[in-house]
Amino acid sequence: MRLDVITIFPEYLEPLNVSLVGKARARGQLDVRVHDLREWTHDRHNTVDDTPYGGGPGMVMKPEPWGEALDAVLDSGTERDGAGPALVVPTPSGRPFTQALAMELSERPWLVFAPARYEGIDRRVIDEYGQRLDVYEVSIGDYVLAGGEAAVLVITEAVARLLPGVLGNAESHRDDSFAPGAMADLLEGPVYTKPPEWRGRTIPDVLVSGHHGKIARWRRDEAFRRTASNRPDLIERCDPASFDKGDRAI
Ligand code: SAM
Repeated sequence: MRLDVITIFPEYLEPLNVSLVGKARARGQLDVRVHDLREWTHDRHNTVDDTPYGGGPGMVMKPEPWGEALDAVLDSGTERDGAGPALVVPTPSGRPFTQALAMELSERPWLVFAPARYEGIDRRVIDEYGQRLDVYEVSIGDYVLAGGEAAVLVITEAVARLLPGVLGNAESHRDDSFAPGAMADLLEGPVYTKPPEWRGRTIPDVLVSGHHGKIARWRRDEAFRRTASNRPDLIERCDPASFDKGDRAI
């Protein structure tokens, strides 16, 4: 998968060199290219923002550098990047970023990220590229960050771990919170490792029983309890047909 990020803070994306994403890059599973938006400015101050039409506080990112940058990046695509680049625009007014959306984005061969600063990017840029490619306006949560770079890191990590071969154990994301399957719409329950006793605290006996059916039942019950406690909205959204007798007993 190819990922391009156009930003006024290229150094903010340095974490893309470490851990899971860094290793995926080193293995050639991810081709990440970070671009400085100011390279597409033509004045002495490398200006990327201006005052908003209609007045009001803050500044708005100018359309010209974004247009030139996006044209240059999109024109650099080769057949290997696939026919369908998608533009991802982080914004608090976008659709919520969910595991389902991470899965959808992980199917795309090429993502181009346009993280903004100030009050965002002149709307005409999104409208212009929306006519040529799929544009995803995405919010990573109901709060406002100073810029979209942190959102790019979040989205990239969630997408990268879904790519074939990126996680050491391909099974591990199938049991995650929000993963489709037997535990769809439930959060993952608690997990334990060795030693069997720590500061007088032991682990649930069932986990060392060797009884796979009982372990699966315990995991589902714990997932159900945790979801009901921390995210009752998720339980309300569940298809009642997906509940079994054991769930109803909780
Ligand atoms: N005035 C904008 C609003 O209220 O919608 C907020 C602009 S914010 C200060 C600057 C940039 O940070 C946004 O354009 C976006 O790129 C990024 N950003 C802030 N919060 C975000 C969020 N929750 N999800 C994704 N991106 C976010």
